[in-house]
Amino acid sequence: MKKTYRLALGVAAACGLAVPALSQTGVVDQTELQQIMAQHPEWAKWLADPKLASLTLAGPQMPNSQWRADDIRRPQPPKIETGTACSAAPPSDADVLFDGKNLSKWTGDHVEEWTLKNGVVTTGARVYNFLKTKQSYGDSQIHVEFREPAQPNPPLNPQYHGNSGVFPMGLYEVQILDGTNNQTYADGMVGAIYTQSPPLVNAGRPPGVWQCYDITFHAPRFTGTTVTDPARMTVMLNGVLVQDNTVLIGATVHGKVATYTPHAAELPLALQDHGNPDSHVSFRNIWIRRLSR
Ligand code: MG
Repeated sequence: MKKTYRLALGVAAACGLAVPALSQTGVVDQTELQQIMAQHPEWAKWLADPKLASLTLAGPQMPNSQWRADDIRRPQPPKIETGTACSAAPPSDADVLFDGKNLSKWTGDHVEEWTLKNGVVTTGARVYNFLKTKQSYGDSQIHVEFREPAQPNPPLNPQYHGNSGVFPMGLYEVQILDGTNNQTYADGMVGAIYTQSPPLVNAGRPPGVWQCYDITFHAPRFTGTTVTDPARMTVMLNGVLVQDNTVLIGATVHGKVATYTPHAAELPLALQDHGNPDSHVSFRNIWIRRLSR
């Protein structure tokens, strides 16, 4: 544990970050905030907002971690260039959820606010307006292709730039976000399991370019009110491993430490509309395969 902590500090120092000085009270250390803003002018634009500074510097302590939830001090994964891996025809045993023709496999409270045009479905601008599959799934292999919006005048808050997400069981988010010139807290960037696990690398492609997720999801198992086998995810982003059999600590929450609440063995897959006007994320070629174990 001690060794891990020293290694992480070494990485933080190598990235030019201030050595973490985590408050025990959840209050932003103003001296540290000013240091971080001086070291990272691009972050200072949004860290100047007291709410965002509090979110990213004074969230709850994550279990078995030196970092807080959504902590900007957590080291940023290295940015890499991906190959051309992405689009492929679905395997013959896949349940094709979206092939560009219609949304007949999907439901939701406001499906009509998602637009279907030229074989592509795009988010509207309603906060947390989820598109959910009519069918339920547990253990599964999921393929999703998505495209980030080009925004000449990107919003100050990096979380408002092309935010969406793939939610196996409607509960466990693999984050979708612009990962090019758009730095945010590492556990909230593209490839992250949101507010839990940063990606191994930043394998995001630029806005306007199609990208793909290939996710292997293992649903949690419960005995009574206790989780006896937590959810696990292996995630490839644009053909690059970004989550390696990551164990989830609970259902996705924002700015909190996730916990489990027992649920059904199978639940609908969901796609997120984060609700940011002029920042619409598009999707194509979505399929899923049921797995058994
Ligand atoms: Mg999201």
